[in-house]
Amino acid sequence: MDYEDHFRQANRPKIDCLLFDLDDTLYPLSSGIAAACLNNIKDYMVERLGIEKSKIPDLCNLLYKNYGTTMAGLRGIGYDFDYDEYHSFVHGRLPYENLKPDPVLRSLLLSLPYRKVIFTNADKVHAAKALSRLGLEDYFEGIICFETLNPSHKVTVSDDEDDIEFVGSNTASMTNVSTTVNGGSSEIFDIIGHFSQPNSNGILPKTPIICKPSEAAIEQALKIANIDPERTLFFEDSVRNTQAGKRVGLHTVLVGTSQRVEGADYALESIHNLREALPELWEAGRKAEVATYSGKLTVETSVTA
Ligand SMILES: [Mg+2]
Repeated sequence: MDYEDHFRQANRPKIDCLLFDLDDTLYPLSSGIAAACLNNIKDYMVERLGIEKSKIPDLCNLLYKNYGTTMAGLRGIGYDFDYDEYHSFVHGRLPYENLKPDPVLRSLLLSLPYRKVIFTNADKVHAAKALSRLGLEDYFEGIICFETLNPSHKVTVSDDEDDIEFVGSNTASMTNVSTTVNGGSSEIFDIIGHFSQPNSNGILPKTPIICKPSEAAIEQALKIANIDPERTLFFEDSVRNTQAGKRVGLHTVLVGTSQRVEGADYALESIHNLREALPELWEAGRKAEVATYSGKLTVETSVTA
């Protein structure tokens, strides 16, 4: 409470943009999507990359911790696979039926006269499906997703499908994706062995994948969407993403807990608590000369204009 008063008095940022993470931010962790996704990732590692089952928990932890996402980590340590195939495998079987239309959030978004942009590490098909299930597909100006930050990944797929229209449908069903996985272990970096050595120097192979919580990834996203961090509120359920956002100058809102941590200017148990926690957004909004963005969900590149 004190900090909020203090924050309001000391900073009172002029906000003109709301930047939202998607998963576990616009809907609660209790939906079970995140847990199902993690299981699918583990299955992918065993079934498609041929990784020993007993190594999966440690490997997942280390990759997630050191590379931002398990996927980025898998590429970092040397696995080669098609990104679309990976995404369709880990997202294709998610229990999307657990996501229900959210009229409360819809009306909150509608009443806020600021730019609203999604920033997710997930692929565009997943983002579109999740937003559509939540009934929120028309409430954002654009989506910065995996493909936005990692555009040139057409290595093994011959179809020239760049710049396909973002329709959020089944463009990546599991059946029509060729399996071009090279699970060979000859050049795989042993990250578990690396960290089990007492004097590991901490130098890991680099990943080609750009994703949160890398500050460079966040800065790139801001640039693409023409977002000024000092005039933007960044909503995230991940503490480390929130902290990275803070480091690049965003005002931050940690979602999913009421416990504020370092790097979070605000903390909300649920995105539904927005009005109680940040009433000034509505007060300031009345004076703002910013148009309401409620156009159709568009391809991420439309944000660049
Ligand atoms: Mg999230």
